[in-house]
Amino acid sequence: MDCCAPSSNVEAAQINCPSCGEKGKSVQLITLKSLLKPTSLETIEPDNTYAFCTNSFCNTVYFSGTHSQTFEEDAMKVPVFQKNSSTGVPVCYCFDWTRDRLVQAVSDNQDPIDHIKGHIQSNRCGCEVNNPQGRCCLGNVSAFVRSLKTNV
Ligand SMILES: [Zn+2]
Repeated sequence: MDCCAPSSNVEAAQINCPSCGEKGKSVQLITLKSLLKPTSLETIEPDNTYAFCTNSFCNTVYFSGTHSQTFEEDAMKVPVFQKNSSTGVPVCYCFDWTRDRLVQAVSDNQDPIDHIKGHIQSNRCGCEVNNPQGRCCLGNVSAFVRSLKTNV
């Protein structure tokens, strides 16, 4: 499956985060299986639907549709862009574009978005197993790059 194709936005079933009440975005089980630490992975219920909370003020990363489970960033093998404002955190996980690297590229007048798009078009991206949100990073990268340009 092409994780960055617009048609791949899985089912639109939305459930609210039990911690902050905002709507989560459903994620595939493979994303949790790839990115949860073993001790947390041992507790997932594969029959449940899981969702990702994008709210940066909320500590919950994943929660189950039944609300019986939540996972925070410390359950993850990687830092989570939406939950962690450190400059070393990836915005694009597949090709390791951290905030630092994006800042550098923009100040060198490079276009990181073009670079990432090229890889996506060549079908090299694997957001469902690399990115905690389980889907394409491009929206986050564009928003971040835009924020850099308006801050100049
Ligand atoms: Zn939340």
